[in-house]
Amino acid sequence: MSEFDGARVLADLHALRNIGAYKTGVHKPTFSEPHLRSLEWLAGRIPEAGLTATIDGIGNVLGHSPKSGPKLLAGSHLESQNYAGWLDGPLGVVYALEAARVINSDSTAKGAVEVAAWCDEEGHFGSFLGSRSYVGGVAEAEIDTAHDRTNGRTMRDALRDAGLAERPRVVVERGRHIGYLEAHIEQGEVLESESLAIGVVTSIVGIWQYRISFTGEQNHAGTTRMSVRKDAGLALARFCVAIDDRFPAQCGPRTVWTTGRITLDPGAPSIIPGSAEMLFQIRDDDPAVIDRLEDLLRTMAAETNAQRRCSVKLERIRTGSPAMMDGAFQQAIEAASSAFAGNRSVRMPSGAGHDAQVLATIMPAGMLFVPSIGGISHHWTENTADADIVTGARVFVEACRRLLGG
Ligand SMILES: [Zn+2]
Repeated sequence: MSEFDGARVLADLHALRNIGAYKTGVHKPTFSEPHLRSLEWLAGRIPEAGLTATIDGIGNVLGHSPKSGPKLLAGSHLESQNYAGWLDGPLGVVYALEAARVINSDSTAKGAVEVAAWCDEEGHFGSFLGSRSYVGGVAEAEIDTAHDRTNGRTMRDALRDAGLAERPRVVVERGRHIGYLEAHIEQGEVLESESLAIGVVTSIVGIWQYRISFTGEQNHAGTTRMSVRKDAGLALARFCVAIDDRFPAQCGPRTVWTTGRITLDPGAPSIIPGSAEMLFQIRDDDPAVIDRLEDLLRTMAAETNAQRRCSVKLERIRTGSPAMMDGAFQQAIEAASSAFAGNRSVRMPSGAGHDAQVLATIMPAGMLFVPSIGGISHHWTENTADADIVTGARVFVEACRRLLGG
């Protein structure tokens, strides 16, 4: 029997950090040499947990238990964003591995933890390709067209170069698992700022995206008097500021919104922009909040149109459904936090996407967060205090045990 071992968790995380190290972080894009070595590293560790390891035809690593009784699926991902942090992904994989080592070797524990590392959560080739493949949501045609957003390499070439092209993709055996548990760094500053150890994720927010287009009149920047201008760029800037003034009265407690891209046409210093466009995104876990904010955007657009200088068109270009985390999973994480983290936990939504939202479409799912120093992620300086990493691991193992009914 294997006891929980915090030093072993840290050593495993450092072993993964040393594969593809970049400054204090890592550079491990999907199907890069260091990413593939990380998959092999995990496949080599998984037997320590009484599981047989498979790397399947889309690059998912899966541990399979021969034990009878309930099975809990646990994991995260091993690739990174380009030149990014060492914990985004590996933390959840190593926690799952530790839970499997501890629980699967315990003759008094019920069932088993099965470990998974989902390929390409970071979206180098697509959107959650690994976990979506596992739930049966990726057709061969999608793989045919997928390519690396950084260098254009096709996914077919990447799979062939990795020696995975001939392997089957493993698809979930429905009903095999009581659910899926994933740990992740928070990637925000809520836990750190409130001196908390564990975030109990209630939901993973949906993402709604809009294209807001302004049409005015292109003209000479030197000869056109200010009073007669129809400056689409200025109309856009006013709209953008008005959103920030008016959204707070209608939004939910954790709604976030971002204007991620602005383009002015023709975009020259001596020409008054005749048209302008902004890409605008809202994230929330409550579609009713989104409905309210969308109504407000429409009202604001109508107000701008009524001034008869520039016209505004609002188009929704992406609708994201939020994923709700299972109530029993939240309770198990909370109970584990009260046992091993001094009750320093808080329920919170996840503003970032995770594989758990994909698994949640077919089984109960839960997530826990550990603090991120300074709230920084997707950057090589990303870090978490060793003590927080170990506390999180202990809570994770305990939550798994409770979910399996031990
Ligand atoms: Zn991640």
